[in-house]
Amino acid sequence: MAPSLPPALKRLGQNFLIDPNIVRKIVSLAALRPEDTVLEIGPGRGALTAGLCAEAGRVIAVEIDPQLQPHLQETLGHCRNLDLRIGDALAFPFGTLPPHTVVVANLPYYVSTPILFALLDARARLDRLVLMLQTEVALRLAAKPDSEDYGVLSVLAQEAAEVELAFRVSPNCFRPRPTVGSAVVRLTIKARDEVDPVRYERFRRLVRAAFAHRRKTLVNSLRDEGYPSERISSALQAVGVPLQARAETLTLDHYRALAAAFDDGES
Ligand code: SAM
Repeated sequence: MAPSLPPALKRLGQNFLIDPNIVRKIVSLAALRPEDTVLEIGPGRGALTAGLCAEAGRVIAVEIDPQLQPHLQETLGHCRNLDLRIGDALAFPFGTLPPHTVVVANLPYYVSTPILFALLDARARLDRLVLMLQTEVALRLAAKPDSEDYGVLSVLAQEAAEVELAFRVSPNCFRPRPTVGSAVVRLTIKARDEVDPVRYERFRRLVRAAFAHRRKTLVNSLRDEGYPSERISSALQAVGVPLQARAETLTLDHYRALAAAFDDGES
């Protein structure tokens, strides 16, 4: 007999999937092959894990709650390709993952943004990510310029990946029911040459600074974040962005060009 289940912990974002149809849709969106390694963040009670183990070569599942371990070991003991790690996903050494790892997760919503940023930083090791998120975060990932949802997360995610909003999921598909709606997104990492970490760090700093003061113009926001005024004006002029523009009107290409213009000024 399986060990009795510990109660769901709200503080750890434990809203477990109970709809097998949604589980199937998520696993199928990941399009797994026997040679794939999957990283699952937060296996919980294992709703997705068995399906992932059936299709991938290896599944590394990182769960923060040690109370779930006996249940997972008991119910998934037959999955020889499961590597269960009890610990915090934010402390996981993403750099040790094999190249082309696929991430599949129903993310704990309280910590989904920092996990997303950590995954984007680890993108050199990743091929694609299929993530269940709170709808608001999913919309931010996929947002285009000139929309309310467009911000740091949109630019950094779209710089790294093609982002598709795949489908929405009703709160009724979870136990306990979450108070917010959910959606599944797929991020397919763009094929890139090796990313220069120093340039990427500058790009990230620029995007964060641009959106740091949403009500201000880009010039004022960047100046308030420590960029020298004369460098801002010359960089904006070099890429053809008007001096009165706001951060949310710039496309990804604008941000890339702007970061390169600042880089040129740096060297
Ligand atoms: N995958 C399961 C499902 O779909 O039913 C559970 C999803 S539940 C929304 C999120 C899971 O992430 C929970 O099991 C929770 O304990 C775990 N979790 C929360 N914070 C975590 C963290 N920092 N690192 C790893 N797992 C975490």
